[in-house]
Amino acid sequence: MGEEKTAGQSVACEYLLQALRCVQCGKCSSGCPVAFETRHTPRKVMRFLQRGWVEEAARSPFLELCAQCQACTVRCPRGIEVSEVLLALRRLARAKGWAREDGFHKSMERMIRENGRVNEMKLGLAAQLGRIPRHPFEDLLLLFKMFLRGKLP
Ligand code: SF4
Ligand code: SF4
Repeated sequence: MGEEKTAGQSVACEYLLQALRCVQCGKCSSGCPVAFETRHTPRKVMRFLQRGWVEEAARSPFLELCAQCQACTVRCPRGIEVSEVLLALRRLARAKGWAREDGFHKSMERMIRENGRVNEMKLGLAAQLGRIPRHPFEDLLLLFKMFLRGKLP
């Protein structure tokens, strides 16, 4: 068990060290489908790691947004496995208790456990609860589309 943990930690370390090869070209961020959502981008997270700011990198709100689509990894001219680095950071954040409360995933998990399915309306509301909507007009439009498709109760 102890050996497994050590092996896991060294793999995580290997991924984090890849950031030292980053030349800050930004190709990862420009191809990322969710980078526009926060002021942190994959490039910026790499910069944090290069400076040794591991906790800042692991606390980045971007980590929860990453869809693990691998576009950044494919685009990186330095062969950095960007998505794996982000995943390693996410695991580190959970292990250290730095991870942010994730209402969306918690609500989804609870709904599946209790009802065996997800109610999209309730999940959408739970995700927005206590937050200032970032895209209020798009959200309203989505609500309208859901209504037209009979997805609202
Ligand atoms: S794996 Fe994550 S960081 Fe990379 S392009 Fe996809 S969403 Fe963006
Ligand atoms: S594409 Fe690669 S080298 Fe360029 S900023 Fe992103 S991680 Fe760094």
